[in-house]
Amino acid sequence: MSDFPKTARVVIIGGGAVGASSLYHLCKAGWTDCVLLEKNELTAGSTWHAAGNVPTFSSSWSIMNMQRYSAELYRGLGDAVDYPMNYNVTGSIRLAHTQERLQEFQRVVGMGRYQGMDLKILTPDQIAEVYPFIATHDLVGALYDPYDGDIDPAQLTQALAKGARQMGARIERFCPATGVRREGDEWVVETHKGDIRCEVVVNAAGYYAREVGKWFGREVPMMVMSHQYMLFDTIPEVEARTKEVGHKLPLLRDVDSSYYLRQEKNGFNLGPYEKNCKAHWVTKDDPFPEDFSFQLFPDDLERLEWYITDAMARVPLLETAPLTKVINGPIPYTPDGNPLIGPMPGVPNAFEACVFTFGICQAGGAGKVLAEWITQGATEWDMWSCDPRRFTGFEDQDYCIAKGMEVYGHEYAIQFPHYTWPEGRDKKLSAVHDRTTALGAQFGAYNGWERALWYARIGDDVSAKGSQTWARNGAWFGAVRAECEAVRDAAGILDLPGFSRFVLKGDGAADWLARQITGKVPNVGRLGLAYFADDKGRIVTEMSVARLGLDELLLITAATAQAHDRDWLVAHLDAGLSLTDETTEWSTQILTGPKSREILAAVSDADLAKGWLTFQTAQVGGADVFLMRVSFAGELGWEIHSKVADTARVWDAVLAAGTPMGLKPFGMFALNSLRLEKGYRAWKGDLSTDYSVLQGGLERFVDWAKPDFRGKAALAAEKQAGVAKRFCTLVIDAGDQDPPYMSTIWEGDTVVGEVTSGYYGHRVGACIGLGMLRADLNLPGQAVEVEIFGQRYPAVVQADAPLWDAKNERIRA
Ligand SMILES: Cc1cc2nc3c(=O)[nH]c(=O)nc-3n(C[C@H](O)[C@H](O)[C@H](O)COP(=O)(O)OP(=O)(O)OC[C@H]3O[C@@H](n4cnc5c(N)ncnc54)[C@H](O)[C@@H]3O)c2cc1C
Repeated sequence: MSDFPKTARVVIIGGGAVGASSLYHLCKAGWTDCVLLEKNELTAGSTWHAAGNVPTFSSSWSIMNMQRYSAELYRGLGDAVDYPMNYNVTGSIRLAHTQERLQEFQRVVGMGRYQGMDLKILTPDQIAEVYPFIATHDLVGALYDPYDGDIDPAQLTQALAKGARQMGARIERFCPATGVRREGDEWVVETHKGDIRCEVVVNAAGYYAREVGKWFGREVPMMVMSHQYMLFDTIPEVEARTKEVGHKLPLLRDVDSSYYLRQEKNGFNLGPYEKNCKAHWVTKDDPFPEDFSFQLFPDDLERLEWYITDAMARVPLLETAPLTKVINGPIPYTPDGNPLIGPMPGVPNAFEACVFTFGICQAGGAGKVLAEWITQGATEWDMWSCDPRRFTGFEDQDYCIAKGMEVYGHEYAIQFPHYTWPEGRDKKLSAVHDRTTALGAQFGAYNGWERALWYARIGDDVSAKGSQTWARNGAWFGAVRAECEAVRDAAGILDLPGFSRFVLKGDGAADWLARQITGKVPNVGRLGLAYFADDKGRIVTEMSVARLGLDELLLITAATAQAHDRDWLVAHLDAGLSLTDETTEWSTQILTGPKSREILAAVSDADLAKGWLTFQTAQVGGADVFLMRVSFAGELGWEIHSKVADTARVWDAVLAAGTPMGLKPFGMFALNSLRLEKGYRAWKGDLSTDYSVLQGGLERFVDWAKPDFRGKAALAAEKQAGVAKRFCTLVIDAGDQDPPYMSTIWEGDTVVGEVTSGYYGHRVGACIGLGMLRADLNLPGQAVEVEIFGQRYPAVVQADAPLWDAKNERIRA
């Protein structure tokens, strides 16, 4: 007992695969003075009973990165720490029942190739060659992933733990953390063996993460599902084949039917993600248990019947095998199914690495990411998809349960770009939601806020099916074109509730901001775009800045960036400055198009001669508003910011005055098209920590004359060395679909860049790609190709100016 550590740099709470990997990676980064606390034996949570599949497949670039890294790590881990492990790299096939599914696979093959992986598309005949027992009559193809496999999760955890111990870390088993308290700049983690003082705490408590989060005043957005797999006994044909060829069958995933089937010894492991799924510990009569270590739920085969029958039709041999065992264990879900890895929102020196749905295949990469967050304050890859700050606090239990069940029941579903998932909706409604609904708005949720994506006209197909396509010309296309044309020829109004909004005040506020952003703080009375870089010069965020007074600034940023940007500002704020979050008090409407001045003149007392990038307070429809002369759509226009209580009045007045002049409401799809034509970047697509400010083509927002700003040294060094790749605009002869995120750009047989946004520009009548291209090829007129769903299409690099209104004359009109 006396040996119990009293201090540590980092205390990790939770000894599953993820906690152990976090410890291992902290040690690898040189932080060996770390302690992991496990309430029971290592692996006692979800890890011990996991099936252990280790896929690399993901349609998300960052998650694929994390899983690819895990697979690479696991291949060498046994030798590195001298701990033998059962890791079978069997390869896998993922079946496609439809062309849309095959397109998804083709996209993933392209992303995989860019990450150095050789994934392949198989024809139905080729499927039968690698998987002899399968029925292929109804398949259109498959994806072959040679890196897929399965690992023993307990051995994996023990190996990581052994490696960490060898480097000097401590692991305390049978030692639950019972609470935390903050004393000065330190955390004190309480256990029945004593307190541990530390700089940093990590919540790696798996499905217990919500309980641990409460000690920090944090509501971890999560719920728990029951997930099952079934083991089937030896099948002579499988045994004979294994003996003959010397290796197992590849893992089979029938994603359209929603299960995996893996050879387990000489039998099978069948694991469905069933639609009629079951949440646990979500009702009063099923309370969360104090302890569930090494326990399982009772079998529930009824839920799985359809999947068993389907699998037996796919691999008829399965019918001959006796079912020997069912494993039914708890598996935690966030509302979007991705884990939480990174800073705990609003809590200093606390981090999360929890709520993993695929914690075995992601543990390796997650440990790397978490260790980077802790030791460097930033990660190598942009990890927004897993950043805890993507949730902002509105996600109550009902929401978490509804979304968790939805994600689980559609675990393998295709993520079509125009489709919105129906659960957990209407959490935050604009003051004019009833009005936009009546006009035909089809909504999507942004940080919980319902925003119109497009306005359906009479006869437009608004069914779910209508948007479940990769095609450009989907149900929305004609309506979006009409919206863009209205913005071009007359005017459009976009209701944009939920913009994040902070007021920064105090002596020296402007000087402080100047040290945080790369460019100039606008003069009093002016507006500007500001870019925040990290110490490496990479793009952290973008905000609109209105200089209300010498030391009073209004910062406006994306709805989804609310928690992220607030955390960033607060973490760096000088003493004496105040930052107020006014997000919920205000709402915004964008009025834009050549007639917008005329429309506004009819309902407002504003000085409409004031130029581009100015702001003023005024009245619209009798309500006080804050008017900003900017337009993300690239036309003459104003952002009208009003108090929520006044928003409907503003909307009604503008619509009444504007409709006779051709004003139309428009939605987010049209805005996406319009902003691409102007080359305006979107946060966490085109603007992310994967790119430096210079790579992002944002040097005009860098004020080299300032004595210092965050990232300056790194950016100066990069400029000196030469920027390797740079933001580009492409016009793509793209067939009938637009390039999804991370479609690769080719010159001859070499990948030379990637598309970060692709969409059709209705004003210019072309498919546009924004992206990153090798600097020596980034010349106007340069011919390249863009790979879209496995096919390469010709594209031409454009000049470094907007495609629409290159001189910004319409905006300044
Ligand atoms: C049936 C089933 C099959 C699965 N198959 C796969 C698969 O094939 N591939 C895959 O990638 N994933 C799979 N998963 C998911 C996987 O099991 C989890 O994502 C993974 O185990 C999560 O690891 P973790 O370390 O985050 O959490 P856990 O393994 O749950 O570890 C958390 C640990 O924290 C400890 N703890 C909690 N509170 C405290 C406290 N106060 N103090 C100290 N310690 C505490 C717990 O005892 C526990 O050991 C499966 C899950 C299930 C249910």
